[in-house]
Amino acid sequence: MSKKIVVAIDGPAGSGKSTIAKALAQKLGFVYLDTGAMYRAITYLAISKSILNEIPEIIELARNIDLKLSFENGITRVFVDGVEVTENIRTPEINSKVSDISRIPEIRQEMVRIQRSLGQKGNLVAEGRDTTTVVFPDADLKIFLTAALEERAKRRFLEYQEKGQVTSLEEVKKSIENRDYIDSHREVSPLKKADDAVEIDTTFMTVGKEQEIILNKIEEIKKQTEPQ
Ligand code: C5P
Repeated sequence: MSKKIVVAIDGPAGSGKSTIAKALAQKLGFVYLDTGAMYRAITYLAISKSILNEIPEIIELARNIDLKLSFENGITRVFVDGVEVTENIRTPEINSKVSDISRIPEIRQEMVRIQRSLGQKGNLVAEGRDTTTVVFPDADLKIFLTAALEERAKRRFLEYQEKGQVTSLEEVKKSIENRDYIDSHREVSPLKKADDAVEIDTTFMTVGKEQEIILNKIEEIKKQTEPQ
């Protein structure tokens, strides 16, 4: 049996982590773990229960949450306590609140515990803000994706437009900037490049090229880990 391979991808909002992580997972038949979806789900639940400012209650919620993620045909579906929240967790409102929830240490502790247990299942592509530094520090391949703020805002804006969500490019840019600031300045597991991560700037890169670079690296790892 060859060794389990873990690929971890971190980077700021809109850097293309989900797109590439999903494509890789599909192509390689790896489990895909969208850690951001989990912080979004808690945020959504806290808003729907009107406890956004009640930190002890949100922590309790995180400790008891029944969270399920499924990934089929390139789509991640998210279920909280048996109810599907896939669409509800990707709104501008969640974007504006999620970083204040994900900075709470006890919430991170719970999420990391769940993420590591999901990561036991087999070959894995995980993406988020701390998958290379905290969740899977021994990952076989660590990628730090970046892109210019303008480009990231444009990508998110187009996504919203496709979904018919009303917003402006300027608003999206501000929201991304704000989220990145909180995510990279929080005390516990801030977004940062791991020393041993490969940095890829996707500003002027197609997803195809990005995929080629990462697949080549995974091939190298597979060769090294396969029994001779
Ligand atoms: O990746 P995504 O944009 O869905 O992440 C939403 C938010 O969840 C991030 O802005 C961040 O606040 C939080 N997050 C985190 N750690 C992760 C993944 C996401 O703090 N590993």
